[in-house]
Amino acid sequence: MAKAKIALVTGSNRGIGLEVVRQLCQQGFQTILTSRNPESGQKAMASLHQYADLLHYYPLDVSQQSSVDALQQAVSHDLGGVHVLINNAGINYDTHRHAETVPMQEVQQTLDTNLLGAWRMAQAFIPYMKQQGYGRIVNVSSGAGALTGMGASTPAYSVSKAAMNAMTIKLGHELKQHGILVNAVCPGWVQTDMGGANAPRTVQQGAQSVVWAATIPNSGPAAGFFRDGQPIAW
Ligand code: NAP
Repeated sequence: MAKAKIALVTGSNRGIGLEVVRQLCQQGFQTILTSRNPESGQKAMASLHQYADLLHYYPLDVSQQSSVDALQQAVSHDLGGVHVLINNAGINYDTHRHAETVPMQEVQQTLDTNLLGAWRMAQAFIPYMKQQGYGRIVNVSSGAGALTGMGASTPAYSVSKAAMNAMTIKLGHELKQHGILVNAVCPGWVQTDMGGANAPRTVQQGAQSVVWAATIPNSGPAAGFFRDGQPIAW
């Protein structure tokens, strides 16, 4: 029997990330749950006890290069590497801000997590994927990052996701020849702490949109932007 593929999900102690972990376990992936707060990570692990045989836990703060490096070394030592990377961790849906006045420190923090966090995770885990000639990287983006129809509101968040989309195109084109398919996915507006209770989509639906890109076949797309498996405008 082929060995189970290994997937890693950033920011997976709650919200869409936690549900992505659950759905990946359901599909038989060995899955790495990560969180910046170890206590909430352990709570999340306990909530998935039925998949204990498939689950691994590591602490991770994607905004810290040292944390990403430590994770890469630990995963490399324990498991070799990962075949699937889900860059889900995200912050600051800043509806109350204006581009004219938003504090630069807040913009910087948002970019450090939403853009650079995903980028440094990709850099850390690509070498093993290249060795395997197989990889899937899913950048959990947002329709708020689409340039088509972009208006005012959520300045730092939208810019961070637009930049994440550009990074997806760059990596997607570079890595396709190595069997690594990099795509950006919008989960839709989802009922989580970020999305709020009025969101029309369940966390299961949002996670499915993400898991689709993690499980596409070798003939699947690269360097694209999708929601529910369908291309959407950049
Ligand atoms: P959420 O409920 O607010 O969860 C965000 C997760 O990211 C939490 O686990 C959080 O950890 C983690 N995180 C934040 N900063 C981190 C860091 N520096 N290092 C590691 N983990 C970090 O959000 P969500 O709704 O599930 O969103 C997940 C992704 O979907 C995000 O990228 C978001 O932008 C995107 N998205 C969401 C919606 C929506 O409607 N919900 C729509 C479009 C796109 P803590 O618990 O420690 O804070």
